[in-house]
Amino acid sequence: MSAAPLVVVGSGLAGYAVAREFRKLDKETPLVVLSRDHGGYYSKPMLSNALAGQKTAASLLMKPAEKMAAELNAEVRASVSVEHIDTAAGRLTLAGGEVLPYRDLVLALGADPIRVSLGGDAADAVCSVNDLDDYARFSQALEGAKSVAILGAGLIGCEFANDLLHRGIAPTVLDLADGPLSRLLPREASDWLRARLESAGVAFRFGAAASRVDHHGDGLTVTLADGNSLHADRVLSAVGLQPRLAMARAAGIAVGRGISVDRLLATSAAHVWAVGDCAEVLGLNLPYVMPLMQQSRALAATLCGQPTPVVYPAMPVMVKTPACPTIVCPPQPGATGGWEVEATADACEARFVGADGALLGFALLGAATAKKQAMAALVPGAWPV
Ligand SMILES: Cc1cc2nc3c(=O)[nH]c(=O)nc-3n(C[C@H](O)[C@H](O)[C@H](O)COP(=O)(O)OP(=O)(O)OC[C@H]3O[C@@H](n4cnc5c(N)ncnc54)[C@H](O)[C@@H]3O)c2cc1C
Repeated sequence: MSAAPLVVVGSGLAGYAVAREFRKLDKETPLVVLSRDHGGYYSKPMLSNALAGQKTAASLLMKPAEKMAAELNAEVRASVSVEHIDTAAGRLTLAGGEVLPYRDLVLALGADPIRVSLGGDAADAVCSVNDLDDYARFSQALEGAKSVAILGAGLIGCEFANDLLHRGIAPTVLDLADGPLSRLLPREASDWLRARLESAGVAFRFGAAASRVDHHGDGLTVTLADGNSLHADRVLSAVGLQPRLAMARAAGIAVGRGISVDRLLATSAAHVWAVGDCAEVLGLNLPYVMPLMQQSRALAATLCGQPTPVVYPAMPVMVKTPACPTIVCPPQPGATGGWEVEATADACEARFVGADGALLGFALLGAATAKKQAMAALVPGAWPV
């Protein structure tokens, strides 16, 4: 039996979930967690509702790297960047040249925020928030700010918009689409959400792409492709995430939108696995917490000698917009059917129904969110079990 450790690259929710699940089953095998960040444990979803709770980056950190190391009986190495994987030799190279062998390697590398290409002399001043350090910078940048322009009306853009209201900051959300959460909600439900967020104080500009950001006094001017412009003290970009692929690709590991894995979370290279935002399981890249928990449990069992395909039940996502509680459970990509929407003044229920009448997805807003459990039980998972 090789003495080389199980090496997990990444200390986000996915990396630590695999480490925890593995340790539940195997208390002995050496375990190493490598991370180019601080290596501490925090809940990333809390970054977009932290202002409401007056949280600082320090108070969001739940456990520092040392505590995680002790809890997991692992070596946790923070501020260490993995540069290269040699899949044939079963080892990886760190920045600085150190070489580490692995028995198995779990890539939990996460995803980078997509940056839209912007002109202007303040394009570099556009923030994005994808980790604790970003949040520290963003919350500092908000000191004295009264308005923020947010690029992107998806889940994260809407959550930050709602959160900024708790700080007394006026958000304006820009998106090329024609409504919030346009990829997750049918039009009527998107309009329903929009109306409630607007009533709470969020301004929207739809059909509007930002083309440049320039300094203007103490603030910034965002110029739109149609020539209109708006002023904001700060600009936050929330236009989506791109799985981190470069290292896997350079190692000859198959990639698609994410690092391609099968239901065992196995990549195309022996003893190399991928989980979380960086992974694409049979073509599905789902950058949310529930999928990575399912993946981590399955992978831990596989790594302990019990090959266990990941199972995806219906995995509703709670959108953290307290001004309009919202839960989305989109149909699987390619599902055929149509949306049926029922809305009243205080509830909106959207059901994605297949040709045979089966419920394939849903969205619940306002008082309809109480139906989450009942509806989730009716929706099929990604693959037949
Ligand atoms: C603001 C925000 C709000 C969200 N809200 C929700 C929500 O409400 N519900 C929900 O389900 N999901 C939500 N998500 C998504 C969810 O947080 C992510 O799916 C999840 O946190 C991803 O975890 P991860 O471990 O895959 O990636 P990450 O947390 O990004 O971790 C990646 C790790 O890899 C390390 N790393 C990368 N490259 C290297 C390298 N070369 N060498 C060493 N280390 C490396 C990084 O340092 C980091 O530790 C939200 C996301 C954001 C940004």
